[in-house]
Amino acid sequence: MSVSGLCQICESQTASHDCTRCGMLVCDDHFREATGLCAQCASEGTPGEGGGPIQEF
Ligand SMILES: [Zn+2]
Ligand SMILES: [Zn+2]
Repeated sequence: MSVSGLCQICESQTASHDCTRCGMLVCDDHFREATGLCAQCASEGTPGEGGGPIQEF
């Protein structure tokens, strides 16, 4: 799978990952490899722990 474009969080670095939860394209700095989530999803906590259902866009 190829990813192109800018990180949708900082919009200054090339996105090289896509979040497994929201699908957002993010750069290395904003991707948490341990979880496969973008920094935004990672900061919201893990799914299933007090969070609502995962919404698909
Ligand atoms: Zn970024
Ligand atoms: Zn995400």
